[in-house]
Amino acid sequence: MFIDKFNRRFSYLRLSVTDVCNFKCQYCLPDGYQKPSQAQQFLSLEEIAKLVTTFAQSGTSKIRITGGEPTLRRDIEQIIECCALPEQIHTVAMTTNGYRLSENAKQWKQAGLSRVNISIDSFDERLFNQITGTNRYTKVVAGIESAIDCGLEVKLNTVLMNSYNFQQFEQTLERLKHWPVELRYIELMETLEQRQFFEQEHVSGEKLKQFLLLKGWRAQSREHAAGPAQVFSHPDYLGQVGLILPYEQNFCDNCNRLRISATGKLHLCLFGEHGYDLRPYLNDDDSQSLARAINKALDDKRAGHHLHERDPGQTIHLASVGG
Ligand code: SAM
Ligand code: SF4
Repeated sequence: MFIDKFNRRFSYLRLSVTDVCNFKCQYCLPDGYQKPSQAQQFLSLEEIAKLVTTFAQSGTSKIRITGGEPTLRRDIEQIIECCALPEQIHTVAMTTNGYRLSENAKQWKQAGLSRVNISIDSFDERLFNQITGTNRYTKVVAGIESAIDCGLEVKLNTVLMNSYNFQQFEQTLERLKHWPVELRYIELMETLEQRQFFEQEHVSGEKLKQFLLLKGWRAQSREHAAGPAQVFSHPDYLGQVGLILPYEQNFCDNCNRLRISATGKLHLCLFGEHGYDLRPYLNDDDSQSLARAINKALDDKRAGHHLHERDPGQTIHLASVGG
């Protein structure tokens, strides 16, 4: 089992498979994906298989495939299969902008995907397109419906932004009356490239929490929710609301996740260091060297992030670490 010096146990791997994205979300890649001057090689299927096997043998039971936009990988179906293969892995999830879901949800479920988090920052088409720099609203909503229809467990991710979607919160909740999904509001996090945007758009999720409580929504117990989100439900609504409040005190105390970037770097925190290069161990005959390297790196894991001090670590944007 991977365990750190604070006795936190890491059973959840967030695996980024590409930095590339076809959307231009204001808070992430407002100018779109920029190819770096030095060519990057993303993890191959063989390298992913070695990572997955090692993590599975070291206590990992859940893998989330992310990016960039993970579904832009041509071999995404094989990646899902590869993640689902070890018997220790009970859950294979994916975070996606949803643009390839309407055609592929069923196939990906058959390949072993069980959950999908789809990013949708507004249900107002004009606003959605403005936030994402695309005109893909209809396609994303069709993707959400396909995912629900084929039996995937669906959560929707919405990044809370002051002048974009904060005012629409009440209106957005209406959707949950008949939709059996969890709509998760994620408090905007600061990154190196988006400092000014953060200053303009950050709004504390605490305001949403107070609003929900006032309107009769009730928080589920944390054990039941099992993750960073605080989940709220209401007898009149089929869906639930999740709040991810990374600026809340003690947010990192129960951290259970490790991250691998698309170029094979281990990130101990979303807002940490440059990453520990695992590539040398991925093509190594010694089957134990990878686990040893991860255990050694874990000695450096800090108690928590330093976002409160406006320190996002080395994170230029979340597409680079697999947010
Ligand atoms: N492209 C996929 C997507 O958008 O779902 C996966 C990668 S994206 C980096 C993962 C999640 O991070 C998305 O839900 C996105 O909305 C969220 N995200 C990106 N930048 C963020 C930021 N600065 N603060 C909070 N959430 C952010
Ligand atoms: Fe792409 Fe996801 Fe970033 Fe939006 S949040 S630009 S979809 S990686």
